[in-house]
Amino acid sequence: VADGHRADVLVVGAGPTGLTLAGVLASSGVDVRVVDGASGPQRESSRATTVHAATLELLDRFDGLGREIASRAARAARSTIWSGRRRVAQVRWDRMPTPYAGMFNIPQAETEALLRERLEGLRCDISWRTTAHALERDRSGTCLRVERGGREEALTARWIVGCDGAHSRVRRSLGVRLEGSTHEERFLLGDVRLDTDLRRDQTHLFVSTRGVLGIMPLADGRFRLNGTLTRDEDLTAGTLAELIAHRLSGRQGVELLGVDWLADYRTHSRLADRFRVGNVFLAGDAAHLNSPVGGQGMNVGVHDAVNLGWKLSRVLRGKAPPQLLETYATERRAAAAEVIRASERGTRMVAVRAPLARALRNAIMRFAHRLPPVQGKLALEPAGLTQRVRHGAVVDQIGRRRRAGQKLPSLALPGMRPPWLHHHLHGFEHDLLLLNGAGSLREVESLARSFGIRVHRVGKGHEGNEITDPEGRVAAAFGVEPDRDAAVLVRPDSVVAWIGASEDTASLGQYVRSVIG
Ligand SMILES: Cc1cc2nc3c(=O)[nH]c(=O)nc-3n(C[C@H](O)[C@H](O)[C@H](O)COP(=O)(O)OP(=O)(O)OC[C@H]3O[C@@H](n4cnc5c(N)ncnc54)[C@H](O)[C@@H]3O)c2cc1C
Repeated sequence: VADGHRADVLVVGAGPTGLTLAGVLASSGVDVRVVDGASGPQRESSRATTVHAATLELLDRFDGLGREIASRAARAARSTIWSGRRRVAQVRWDRMPTPYAGMFNIPQAETEALLRERLEGLRCDISWRTTAHALERDRSGTCLRVERGGREEALTARWIVGCDGAHSRVRRSLGVRLEGSTHEERFLLGDVRLDTDLRRDQTHLFVSTRGVLGIMPLADGRFRLNGTLTRDEDLTAGTLAELIAHRLSGRQGVELLGVDWLADYRTHSRLADRFRVGNVFLAGDAAHLNSPVGGQGMNVGVHDAVNLGWKLSRVLRGKAPPQLLETYATERRAAAAEVIRASERGTRMVAVRAPLARALRNAIMRFAHRLPPVQGKLALEPAGLTQRVRHGAVVDQIGRRRRAGQKLPSLALPGMRPPWLHHHLHGFEHDLLLLNGAGSLREVESLARSFGIRVHRVGKGHEGNEITDPEGRVAAAFGVEPDRDAAVLVRPDSVVAWIGASEDTASLGQYVRSVIG
């Protein structure tokens, strides 16, 4: 039975990836339909807790959603690594240049609830109890066979996106392989109540001869535990107190009061061999899986969704050539591969157990964590603040001007309300920043306006400038001298797409015509 409604985009799965994608599409007026096999929102599931700074900045484009999530989350200013009572190393999240200078932890169910609220505001409904079975193709296009209320139906759409998680039916129907491996190590995860003298404004990682244990405060007063398990360790609510005591190596001051949820799992490093087959895409866990070390899984899915969302929306509105969609697969597959490599490195570091190797690791951490470049790497990289697009639809002007392909820098502008540059770029459209008066950039400006790109003047004074920057921080961040005009084009996923001056109008023209024309 076909239900007759042919949406522009059919999103399969209402987890964080599908919800974000539907939000980006609906906010630009695309007809999007979301289906999910579950009977309703997951209220109990306790999976991803960490929403990183770059993700919060990106979610701010949804009417300040990043700020809202951050205000409800527990913020850790630092992560301390302990061996018993001895401090081995510390990661300083509070020194990062972003409004979200911290590690923000909130249950995944709450993040999903806030995303659903945004979707409701955009009048985009979710069809629950609608389970995808298989994709079918004929000459008129692709349809998705689903089961709803015991009946089989065929849903059609111009584009279908599988955001249906690790066991994705959409991926299997496409014959796409999830290449990689499942790791030997066992991990534990739990939400517990503790009586403890541990500081609540930090996360704590205890390293010991039997393995590691992470203790992370949650906003509701509980704690998230995560850590390694040895092959013979039995994990139950009854054995957890003993396990905690072992990992703390005799340190007192952590008493288990109750266990709300506990899981014993193995981790995977897997990447889909294709992110797109014809008019079907894969995003989030359906396309890649990595170890929870570093807390990246959900964050990568949100970034996939924003990347695909703005591209699909432009193509559907006739504002970009269909070839733009190819860049989703190249850009996001490369990003997911990088996250998998980094979380594998992290997992190996964490899981090391041989006494000599452990001693060496601890000695290196004790020394290295004080070095500013190491601190930068330890905090900025997982927070997503050093992300860059290595392949895809950016005009790479590196060598001549800084930052093309990178995430828009997080810049505080004294005197502006709100004070952060990214808060002035709303929604999911391109923005052109005209720096230093930009008198010579009339041609660049009118070209941008003719393509529907929003233009913002950035300068030292209030006169004629929409964004005031008395200290010239924006220009300095892009390596532009204070007396030179320059223009910076920012993509809807906050990637710097193009940086140029008046003599580069032809290059901007080429960019907008080939990418968003
Ligand atoms: C134990 C655990 C701990 C984790 N900890 C972290 C962490 O600390 N930080 C982090 O960033 N990530 C973490 N993750 C990963 C994170 O939970 C996932 O990366 C994230 O949920 C992926 O979102 P998604 O929307 O792609 O998929 P999912 O959240 O899996 O959502 C998929 C949706 O698709 C629906 N669905 C599935 N099959 C079908 C079908 N056939 N038809 C219709 N609908 C279907 C499901 O009901 C679900 O709603 C953890 C994961 C686990 C398992």
